[in-house]
Amino acid sequence: MIDPRPAYARRLRPRGLPGLGRFWPALLLVAAAWGAARVAQAPPAPGTFEALFLDVGHGDAILLRFPGGRTLQVDTGGRARVPEPGSYWPGLPPAIPDAVGENVTAPVLRRLLGGPLDVLAVTHADRDHAGGAGAVLEQVGARQLWLGGVPGSRLEADLIGVARRRGVPVLRPRAGTRWVPSPGCEVEVLHPGDRPVQSQRAAENNASLVLRAHCGGPRLLLVGDLEREGEQALLARGADLRADVLKVSHHGSRGASHPAFLAAVRPRLAIVSAGPNPYGLPHVEALARLLRVGAVVLRTDELGSIRVRFGRAIEVFPSLPAGGGHPAAGGLTSAAGAGTLGLKESKDLVDNASKPPQGPTAGGG
Ligand SMILES: [Zn+2]
Repeated sequence: MIDPRPAYARRLRPRGLPGLGRFWPALLLVAAAWGAARVAQAPPAPGTFEALFLDVGHGDAILLRFPGGRTLQVDTGGRARVPEPGSYWPGLPPAIPDAVGENVTAPVLRRLLGGPLDVLAVTHADRDHAGGAGAVLEQVGARQLWLGGVPGSRLEADLIGVARRRGVPVLRPRAGTRWVPSPGCEVEVLHPGDRPVQSQRAAENNASLVLRAHCGGPRLLLVGDLEREGEQALLARGADLRADVLKVSHHGSRGASHPAFLAAVRPRLAIVSAGPNPYGLPHVEALARLLRVGAVVLRTDELGSIRVRFGRAIEVFPSLPAGGGHPAAGGLTSAAGAGTLGLKESKDLVDNASKPPQGPTAGGG
């Protein structure tokens, strides 16, 4: 009998899940909802949560939804900087608002959510993660803004300016911070720690906020653009990195996803958030390392947006059309006028950068 599922889904046929015993049956289900452009809007059932990896072209934008309707948006997509000085890809110029945030992330979130986000987390202040955050704050809103990365960039200052104007508290959660979005569910901050990572070349990436979410079952690990030094810092701290689903670091660059790190995570499913880009990402070496640890790799540049449901099993729904489904895929449409947000460069420091976060609790439990 011919299996009607797409090739990647056939590779995911149910098999044993060693070490995960009592939490969930030994099944990894894949529901290929091709053509189902509509994403279910009801909050996840108790004990489950969902992650929607939005197709924002080259960049990250991941919406986590928990029982009771609590939400965490991790990164927002945006234009990416390319190696030539002052060049951005695709298009010009470096400013928020940003075409991806204005035309993709904020409209999609508005459509999916009935109100503001509970938390908007920006893993670091590179444009392909943070460029759309101003638009999301303005058009969707958030009850808290979490920032990772190295403090002091202009993009971050602009973002803090928007947050301040809208009365959104800005926090810098550190490793050990925990947030309980719903009873039985937890979002843990695993990185950065108290000591900055020593990195000459990629300090911003290596200060990415690293988050792990679960509701008592399968875990999701989100690592921003963490590279080798950041991975090594996590391993050196002895952090428990185990996760069933990994958001692959840095769009699948070969400077990330090293074997020792992947061996500590042991992902069953790896999601690469990528789009047309001048760097050749994802890199074949990183993909090979992921396959070597037994992970099935799914890519937003091939599937469009990908929805993953974390219940007793992991279910995957490629939920929005890939390529041309919205402006991020086939070249960006015009950015909304830069004046609409009234952004000003701000030298202000984060409101409570030195205080422990409120809402999420620092330390254990
Ligand atoms: Zn990136």
